[in-house]
This record gives sequence, C-alpha cells and structure tokens, in this order.
Amino acid sequence: MHDTIIIGGSFAGLSAAMYLGRGRHDVVVLDTGMPRNRFSPQSHGFFTHDGSIPSVMLSTARTQLKPYSTVRLVDGEAVSATGARDGFSVMLAAGDVLKGRRLILASGVRDILPPINGLAERWGTSVLHCPYCHGYEYADHRLGVLYAGPASLHHARLIANWGPTTLFTNGVDVEQSHTLATHGIAVETAPIIALHGSDGRLSHVELAPARCARLDALYIAPAIEPRSQVSSALGCAMRETPAGSVLAVDDRMMTSVPGVHAAGDIAAFPSMVARAVADGSLAGAMVSQSLIFDT
Ligand SMILES: Cc1cc2nc3c(=O)[nH]c(=O)nc-3n(C[C@H](O)[C@H](O)[C@H](O)COP(=O)(O)OP(=O)(O)OC[C@H]3O[C@@H](n4cnc5c(N)ncnc54)[C@H](O)[C@@H]3O)c2cc1C
Repeated sequence: MHDTIIIGGSFAGLSAAMYLGRGRHDVVVLDTGMPRNRFSPQSHGFFTHDGSIPSVMLSTARTQLKPYSTVRLVDGEAVSATGARDGFSVMLAAGDVLKGRRLILASGVRDILPPINGLAERWGTSVLHCPYCHGYEYADHRLGVLYAGPASLHHARLIANWGPTTLFTNGVDVEQSHTLATHGIAVETAPIIALHGSDGRLSHVELAPARCARLDALYIAPAIEPRSQVSSALGCAMRETPAGSVLAVDDRMMTSVPGVHAAGDIAAFPSMVARAVADGSLAGAMVSQSLIFDT
C-alpha cells in the first residue's frame, strides 16, 4: 500500500510529489507525458522561468525528484479508481492495480479546439488563448479574436491591449459593434474557413466567400474538459467555470471525496503554470499532514 498515488506527473503532480518526497512518504506518480502546453515552444510568466521550454522544465523537475528515494515515477495511464480514504485502488491501462491511502488528481484538462482547417496545427504558436502567456511576443502585430459567445466581446477588449484587433464573429451579429469600434476593434462577420501560413505561423485567414484577412495571431477561447475520467469514477463534485467544469476543492485542495485531493488545471480556472505548481505543492503538503496526523 503506497501512501499516495498521484495521477498526472506534470507541473502540479511533480510539485505535489516533491513535497511528499520531502515529507518521506511513499509516492507513485503515474504519467502519460502529455502536458497541456506541449504545443508551445516556450512557457512564459513563471517566476525565474520566463521563456523556458516546457519539456525542459518538466525533465528538470523529474531529475530533482531522483534523490527522494520514496518517490517513484511511472509511465502509465490510470483508467479508473475505486475505494475510500486509506484504501484506494487505481487501475492502469496496462492492467496493473496500485493501492494507495490517498490520491492526488493532477491529470489536467483537454482543450476542445474549434474545427477550422489549419487551426489545430497552429495551437500554441500562432493560435493562442492567453495573452499573458504569449501575447507579448505578438505585441503590435495584427491580432484576431474568434467569437465564441458574448464573453468574446470582453476577450476582444482585453486582446486590443496588445495590438490592433479584429473580432471574427463567424456570421454572428454582435450588438455592441459600436462599443468595440470606440476601442479601435474591427468586426468581421464573414466566417473563417481556414488558417494559412508556414511553420506554425499565421499569415492570413481565409474567409467565406473567397476573401482573405491578413493576421499574425488568432486568439480563441476553447472549452475545457478533464483529461481523465478517474475523478468521475470516484464521484468527485465539479464546479462550473466560464470554460467548462473543473473539480471543486477546499482550502486543503481536497475534493468532495475524503482522501482524494486535486491540483493544477483539473481544479483551477484561470490556469497557469505558477498556479499549478503552487496548488500542487499545497496538495502535497496537505496530504503529507493528513497522513502524519491521520486526519
Ligand atoms: C497552448 C498552451 C500554452 C500555454 N502556455 C503557458 C505559459 O506560457 N505560461 C503559463 O503559465 N501557462 C501556460 N499554459 C497553461 C499551462 O499549460 C497549464 O496551466 C499547466 O500545464 C497545468 O499543469 P497541470 O500539471 O495541471 O496539467 P498538465 O500540464 O496538463 O499535465 C497533466 C499531466 O497528466 C497526464 N495525464 C493525463 N491523464 C492521465 C492519466 N489518466 N493517467 C496518467 N497520467 C495522465 C498528462 O499526460 C500530463 O502529463 C498554456 C496552456 C496551453 C494550452
């Protein structure tokens, strides 16, 4: 029986493992190696790591966990979990079953991208969601925001801080066009049917019928969903956010199921590396204390 099984070994999961390892607990971290920001060549904004390569940050974290002999990192996918506090079972895709007294869910979320030709292959380079992560690099360039609902008006106002912005409404008539215009935001109602440009860059979007608009970056607001179904198998309560549901946690990062904690994007919105690291560290410390004090 392990003290803790962590599902997801990226920014949140490895941070939790570090605190648990330093607390001398027996920990297994399961990971499938697909962090959410793997599409971006650089990560921005995190204290002392602005511009770092995400995969390098994670491999450094794995290296720094090596001296902690009670922490084991396993390449493997958790497909389900059952049980209760002090006796959870985690089923792996490979068929093994691991037993643990506590669980930490840190398996992140999946972005549901709009089905437009050429969009998915530019995700994280010239198709973006967060201006604080990647907007500085496109400052004063030609920027677009893809309409996804009324909140896109706010999104367009935000993005206009970084450069000349066009809201692409995909055929929807937006009532506040004049307000947008007073903030210098153009509105284009013709639907985008494809994105074009070489090497992940964007040069222009193709509009219907047969027209083009030059653009350097397109901002979208993708819906999110949990990457793993383990939390629903355990019956963890969710809470709604503007992008979709995430796990509800208390101030110890514990879900509605006793003994099951969660950290990172699976339980946070808005999300960022700094928050995943902070919440993962907190979850690790809180789980350590719940093991020590048997609470
Ligand atoms: C394109 C893009 C660019 C971004 N750029 C930035 C940036 O510049 N700065 C910033 O602060 N934030 C950025 N973010 C946000 C950042 O990526 C997330 O906040 C961060 O990755 C969250 O970390 P996490 O550990 O919660 O989840 P993730 O990093 O998504 O990691 C989850 C891990 O769990 C694993 N996993 C999933 N399911 C299972 C399972 N069933 N069994 C085992 N393992 C599983 C996955 O393979 C993955 O390794 C960006 C996001 C995107 C989409």
